[in-house]
Amino acid sequence: MSDHAVVTLSFTRPVYAHELRPDDVFAFPDAPRTPLTVTDVKKAAISPELTLLAFTLLGRTEPVNLPASTPVKPLRMARVISMTCLLCRRNQDIELDLPRDGEPLSMVCADHVPDQDLPEDQD
Ligand SMILES: [Zn+2]
Repeated sequence: MSDHAVVTLSFTRPVYAHELRPDDVFAFPDAPRTPLTVTDVKKAAISPELTLLAFTLLGRTEPVNLPASTPVKPLRMARVISMTCLLCRRNQDIELDLPRDGEPLSMVCADHVPDQDLPEDQD
């Protein structure tokens, strides 16, 4: 349950293949309606300038090899991000789905967030 307040920015920056991790969902810019779920990533450095990544994708037997710098359209990128409370400087790990929630800008921990009206039945 969320008990802190996070200010986020829209996640509009370019994302490249090397940022993808297992469980991420992405699409190629040329085929934005074909979501691809990453199940595994293996790195193969071809030369100091070129890193190829072998992506295993859900439902596909053959891995897809992409240069690390391939631009991709992120559809789901859940990340746990350690943030420092603006008011008390305490660190807290926050999980965000970057394409949906946005990129975190600042955070105020639960100590300073007033009780919210939660849709919960409690006697
Ligand atoms: Zn705090």
